Amino acid sequence: MISNSLRDLSSDTSLLSLNTATVREQWNLGQMIDGCTRHHIGAISPWRDQVAACGLDEAARRIRDAGLRVSGLCRGGMFPADDTGGLQTNIDDNRRAIDEAVALGAECLVLVVGGLPEGSRDIARAREQVLDGMCAVLEHARSNKMPLAIEPLHPMYAADRACVNTMRQALDICDRLGEGTGVALDVYHVWWDPELEAQIDRAGRKGQLLAYHVCDWLVPTRDLLTDRGMMGDGIIELKKIRAWVEAAGYDGCCEVEIFSSRNWWKKDPDQVLQTCVERHQKVV
Ligand code: ZN
Repeated sequence: MISNSLRDLSSDTSLLSLNTATVREQWNLGQMIDGCTRHHIGAISPWRDQVAACGLDEAARRIRDAGLRVSGLCRGGMFPADDTGGLQTNIDDNRRAIDEAVALGAECLVLVVGGLPEGSRDIARAREQVLDGMCAVLEHARSNKMPLAIEPLHPMYAADRACVNTMRQALDICDRLGEGTGVALDVYHVWWDPELEAQIDRAGRKGQLLAYHVCDWLVPTRDLLTDRGMMGDGIIELKKIRAWVEAAGYDGCCEVEIFSSRNWWKKDPDQVLQTCVERHQKVV
């Protein structure tokens, strides 16, 4: 049972957020903002390339005018590099990402931390570089009051996208770095983890749960990157995980993020948003 005193994340579309990857093949950012307004979706989480295409100031103005919350900016991270110069380039890019997140009024900057540099087999070194990179931008993030949200990615992405793959691993980094860091929990990446409930509780106790992303895991999954399911179409126990997240004190947005080249990216985007709203109320 979920206590009535806690906010119910599914009952209210003002807490629903559209991660703009969900309709990225159909719409530009301006159209996505208008779509959120039409479907009474209260928040948005844009990607940096879409913001750049719109222009940062224009994007910030349009989001503000639409009255949307920005549940996160996707994304910073991608720290590991094969030399010091490369790492510095990536650190500089993360500073810019922090500035963009501030300009947009984002609630956090989501970090997909990066995998192995090309030609490397040294995952321990990549993980050290993630820590070094985050250390290097932390003061800038703190002084701008922009929380850094590490998104642990499913281990199938450890080589090319993120060498931080579990909630425990991400929270261990947050504990080392301290204030201004936390996690973005995406059910797609962590649903399988036998420690998930315990790590959500751990994050909640320290206020480290910064974002909550939902979609579903299809069986079979036909593409490692672009075959995510709509909530309710797969095998993730969404209501159970949401209850854990609420019990841990999370009262932020519930962000729908679906990469789907064979299905949802081919549909009428208004139909996609309508389905997101319905499923959010029914199965999330
Ligand atoms: Zn995500």
